[in-house]
Amino acid sequence: DMALYDVKQRGRGRFQTYHSGMNKNSSRLLAIETGLRQALENNEFSLFYQPQVDLNTNETKSFEALLRWTHEGMGSVPPTAFISVAEESGLMIPIGEWIIEEVCKQLAEWSLNGNSRVKVAINLSSKQFQQYYLADMIRSLFQTYQIQPHQIEFEITEGALQNPHEAMETIRRLKSLGVSISIDDFGKGFSSLRYLKTFPIDTLKIDQSFIKNVITDEKDAAIITSIVHLAESLSLEVVAEGIETQEQYAYLKALNCQKGQGYFFSKPLPPDEIEQRYLK
Ligand code: C2E
Ligand code: MG
Ligand code: MG
Ligand code: MG
Repeated sequence: DMALYDVKQRGRGRFQTYHSGMNKNSSRLLAIETGLRQALENNEFSLFYQPQVDLNTNETKSFEALLRWTHEGMGSVPPTAFISVAEESGLMIPIGEWIIEEVCKQLAEWSLNGNSRVKVAINLSSKQFQQYYLADMIRSLFQTYQIQPHQIEFEITEGALQNPHEAMETIRRLKSLGVSISIDDFGKGFSSLRYLKTFPIDTLKIDQSFIKNVITDEKDAAIITSIVHLAESLSLEVVAEGIETQEQYAYLKALNCQKGQGYFFSKPLPPDEIEQRYLK
C-alpha cells in the first residue's frame, strides 16, 4: 500500500526510481500472496499473546492475540507486510476464521487447566468485520469449544466503521453474543467522536504513536490525557499500547489509565511462555 502511495506522490518525473522499486516490491507482494495461499494448509501460522497489565493492581488477566507467519523461504513475515495482501486477495476470511478458532482452542485448554478467567483480545480486519456470517461463525465456535463470550474482546479499527449502518448491525450482532468490542489504534485515523456516541463499544486502545513521545512532547501528553478522561467520562475501558519505558508506565499509571500493553511489560509470547509466566 505504502509503495503505491509513494509512486503516486512522486509522480511522473521520477519514473526511473519508482519503476525499479516497483518491480522488487511487486514481486515480493506476489511471493507473499502465493505463500499465503499455502500457509493454512502447511500450518505456517501461529498466535503469540501479549499481556495487558492492569496499571492499578499490576495483575495480568488479558492478552492480545497476534498472528505470526513463518514461511519456509521468506522466514518470519511480519503481519504489517502480509495482512493487507491477505485482505485484498480474499484470504483474510479463512485466515481470520483460523485465528478465532485457534483462540477458542487455546481458551478451552487454559480453562481445562484451571484458568477460566483469562481474557483474549482478537484483531478483526476490516474485511472480516464486513463478513456477513461473522457473528454466526463465532457463535458456532463458542458452542464447539464451550467458550464464555465475556472471555473474548474483538478489536476493530476506525476504518471498519466507514459504513455506519452496516457497522452498527455487525457490532450489535457481536455484542449480542456477549463479547466486548474495542477500538484499536484510537486517534491514529481521522477519528470522529460521533462514533463513540453512536456505537456500543467497550474499550479504547490509545495508538502507540502517542505513547512513544508522551514524556518529551507536550502535545502527545495532552492528547493522551484527553483520551483517558474521555474514556472515563464515557465509562469506556482504556488501554495504552506500546509502553516501552518506566517513565511512560509511570505517566499512564498516574493518569489513572486502566491498562497498559507494551515491551516494558512483555513482548508478545508463545502460549507456553504465557502459561509459565502468567497462568497457574
Ligand atoms: P495492533 O493490533 O495495534 O498490535 C500491536 C502491535 O504493536 C503488535 O505488532 C505488537 O507486537 C506491537 N507492540 C506491542 N508492544 C509494543 C511496544 O512496546 N513497542 C512497539 N514498537 N511495538 C509494540 P504486530 O504483532 O507486528 O502486529 C502489527 C499489526 O498487525 C497489529 O497492530 C494488527 O493491526 C495487525 N495484526 C496482528 N495480528 C493480527 C491478527 O491476528 N488479525 C488481524 N486482523 N490483524 C492482526
Ligand atoms: Mg490490536
Ligand atoms: Mg494497535
Ligand atoms: Mg499448550
